[in-house]
Amino acid sequence: MKKSIAIVGGGPAGMALATQLNTALFEVTIYDRNKALGRKFLVAGKGGFNLTHATPMPAFANQYTPASFLKSSLSYFDNENFRTWLNEIGIPTFVGTSKRIFPEKGIKPIEVLNCIKRRLEENNVQIKYNHKWNGWDQSGNLIFENRGVIKADSAVFALGGGSWKITGSDGRWLKNFARMNIKTVPFSPSNCGYKIDWPKNFIQAHEGKPLKNISISISNKTIKGEIVLTNYGIEGNAIYALSPNIRKALNLSIPATIYLDLKPTISEADVLKKLNDSANKKVTEILKRSLKLSKAQLALLKQSITKEEFLNKEKLSKYIKQLPLKISGMAPIDQAISSVGGISLKAVDTKFQLIDLPENYCIGEMLDWDAPTGGYLLQACFSMGFKLASELNSKNY
Ligand SMILES: Cc1cc2nc3c(=O)[nH]c(=O)nc-3n(C[C@H](O)[C@H](O)[C@H](O)COP(=O)(O)OP(=O)(O)OC[C@H]3O[C@@H](n4cnc5c(N)ncnc54)[C@H](O)[C@@H]3O)c2cc1C
Repeated sequence: MKKSIAIVGGGPAGMALATQLNTALFEVTIYDRNKALGRKFLVAGKGGFNLTHATPMPAFANQYTPASFLKSSLSYFDNENFRTWLNEIGIPTFVGTSKRIFPEKGIKPIEVLNCIKRRLEENNVQIKYNHKWNGWDQSGNLIFENRGVIKADSAVFALGGGSWKITGSDGRWLKNFARMNIKTVPFSPSNCGYKIDWPKNFIQAHEGKPLKNISISISNKTIKGEIVLTNYGIEGNAIYALSPNIRKALNLSIPATIYLDLKPTISEADVLKKLNDSANKKVTEILKRSLKLSKAQLALLKQSITKEEFLNKEKLSKYIKQLPLKISGMAPIDQAISSVGGISLKAVDTKFQLIDLPENYCIGEMLDWDAPTGGYLLQACFSMGFKLASELNSKNY
C-alpha cells in the first residue's frame, strides 16, 4: 500500500514539493485553508515578479542568513535548474538588467501559477481547499478546523511567514508548534520599509523620489542600489538587503544608524578634488554639475548637515561619502515583503524534519531564515521543496 504524505500549505514551497514527489510511491495531498493555491505567490507577481536571480553560486547562497542553512538545497536545485524547470512547464524566463529573473514579457503571474497547477494535476496530487490546520491530536494526527482529523504517514508543513495575512499566511500556526515544545521564534518584518523621522518640509517636497546609484552601509555590510524616500522613511532594494543587519542594530539601540554613500564610484579624495577644482564658486552648483547629485540627494544632504559643514569642503566630501541617517523603527509586519522568525532552525534536522516530532517536516518561509527580495525568497522555497522531495522519494520506508 502507498504511504500518504500530507502537505499543509499550498504556496510555492508546498507546490514545488508536490510536483516532485513520486506519486507511484506516495498518496500526496495538499491541504490549504484558502479556496485557492498560491495567493501570496500571486501578490508577489503584482510588482516585478522576480522568480529567481542570476547571481552565480556560491555568491548566490551567501545572500541568505544564515548562509549555511540553505546551501545543500540550493546546490541540489539552483537558479539555473529553476529556470530550466520553469521552461519545461511552459514558462520561459529572461534576466533583467538588475540580474533578476522574470517570466518572459507578457506572461502573467496567474499563468505561471496555472502551469504549476497543471504539473500538480499531471502528478496526481490531490488538493483539499478550505482546510485550516489547527495542530495535532494525541495520536499525532492532523486536526483541521471543522473537518476532523487526518492521518498521514508523513506531514510536511509549508505554512509561509507572518506578513500579508490577507493571503492566508498569518503565522497563527506558530502556537501549534510551541504547544508541542518545538522551538519557535517570534515573527519580525524583513524586506520592509524603515522609519526615518523626516522634517515635514523635506519629505513633502521629496516623497516618492528615488536615490539611485548609491550605497548603504551598516555594521561592515555595504549594499549598492537604489532607495525611495517615503513619508514613513525609506524603502527599496538597497535597504531591504540590509534587513538582518538593521534588525540586529535596532535590537541593540534605537535609533540605529545607516551610512549613505552618494557617490560610491569615486573616492573621498576625488570628491574633495572635484569640490576644490571647480571654477564654480557656489557649492550647490558644484554638487549639481561636477558631482551630478540629484535634487533629492542635494536636499537630503542639506537637511542632514549644518550650514558650516556644508560650506567646509573637507567635511562636505566626508558626508557625501558617509552620510548618517537614523532609523527609528521597522514598518508593521503585515506590510513587509517577507518575515523572519517562525520555526527555529535548531528544531529541524538537515532534511527539514522536526527533531522532536519525526515524520513532520517544515519548509519555506515558515522557517527562521532571511534573504533579500529579488528572487532569493522564491528560489529558496522552490529549492527546499525540490530537495525534500528527493529525500522523501529515496527514503526506504
Ligand atoms: C508584496 C510581496 C512581494 C513579493 N515579491 C517577491 C519577489 O518578487 N520575489 C521573491 O522571491 N519573493 C517575493 N515575495 C515573497 C514570496 O512570495 C514568499 O517568500 C513565498 O510566497 C513564500 O512561500 P511559502 O510557500 O513558504 O509560503 P506562502 O506563499 O506564504 O504559502 C503558505 C500557504 O500556507 C497556507 N496556510 C497558512 N496557514 C495555514 C493553516 N493553518 N492551515 C492550512 N493552510 C495554511 C496559506 O494559505 C498559504 O497558501 C513577495 C511577497 C510579498 C508579500
